[in-house]
Amino acid sequence: MYPSNFEYYRPSNLNEALELLANGECRPIAGGQSLVPLMKLRIVAPKCLVDLGRIESLRTIAIEGDVLKVGAMVTHEEIVESQIIEEFSPVLALTAESIGDLQVRNRGTIGGSLAHADPSANYLPTLLALEAEVVVVSPLARRVVPMADFVKGPYTTDLRQGELLEAVMIPRYRGRGIVEKFAIRKADFAIGLVTMLYKVIEGKLDDLRLAVGALATGPVRLRKVEEKLRGGELNPKAAEDVLKEEVALLQPVDDIHGGAEYRRRVIFTLVKRMLEGLARGRDNEGQVEDQWGGKGGRCGA
Ligand SMILES: Cc1cc2nc3c(=O)[nH]c(=O)nc-3n(C[C@H](O)[C@H](O)[C@H](O)COP(=O)(O)OP(=O)(O)OC[C@H]3O[C@@H](n4cnc5c(N)ncnc54)[C@H](O)[C@@H]3O)c2cc1C
Repeated sequence: MYPSNFEYYRPSNLNEALELLANGECRPIAGGQSLVPLMKLRIVAPKCLVDLGRIESLRTIAIEGDVLKVGAMVTHEEIVESQIIEEFSPVLALTAESIGDLQVRNRGTIGGSLAHADPSANYLPTLLALEAEVVVVSPLARRVVPMADFVKGPYTTDLRQGELLEAVMIPRYRGRGIVEKFAIRKADFAIGLVTMLYKVIEGKLDDLRLAVGALATGPVRLRKVEEKLRGGELNPKAAEDVLKEEVALLQPVDDIHGGAEYRRRVIFTLVKRMLEGLARGRDNEGQVEDQWGGKGGRCGA
């Protein structure tokens, strides 16, 4: 199906884009990976599109103090390939690496992914675990929203009419990370997503962060499991009951790709395996094979 008629603008700076978006009739377009299919299905029919592709300030990757700033228009593949990100936040690169296929990663952007807020989007648990913040601009103001408050539910965010997502700010995490995306085929959207960040100091687990995605509520931290294991010797058995309790309270997406109960079991198994792997010292071996026999999801975070 063809989309309904629309006007098309391609501003070269942020102010021009914000002016065009102010009346609420236009919609920003990044790589069009989600918006164009929605327009073709006529689920949305914006009167005009504001293409963000020429706004150079949205394409930068920079370190500001101890924070990594990733512009909204940076593509997933640029995140995978960036030397700055590899050094500052490899767990972000690892997260981007398992998004769709190369075509999707070449067009899709971090800003578009967050603004679209598909519950199964790869970035959501990782950015929550990293305690990232989202910078949002309007003609009148610029505000910073913690990732924990940005996603309100499936396809729903804190963005208000006329606002643009400008960048994502990621504080440095000096530890290691594991990213698990469970899907039927590698390029599919996830059935279960887990990101774990951790440090091991003198044999004790420190600053453990466990975040889960593919949920109808937006991503969630498993705070009770984190508390149970933080500061102690790594003993996955000690956390198993708490993990069960906490996973039982999750509200995963419930659709044709996987029912809610099945997804709970997937999440439980992913977290359990991650913790058991750590306890066996598997992370010292470097890369492990992932679900598809690929590079795997471990790195210094
Ligand atoms: C076949 C396929 C497989 C995929 N698999 C995965 C996967 O495994 N994991 C995953 O995470 N994602 C996956 N995706 C989604 C992909 O990651 C895209 O990043 C995501 O769809 C957003 O696309 P986009 O950046 O092109 O944004 P667009 O489609 O251009 O825009 C999406 C929405 O965000 C709004 N928007 C865009 N930029 C901004 C901004 N700066 N400020 C405010 N609003 C904005 C638009 O108005 C629109 O509502 C897949 C997509 C496809 C087509």
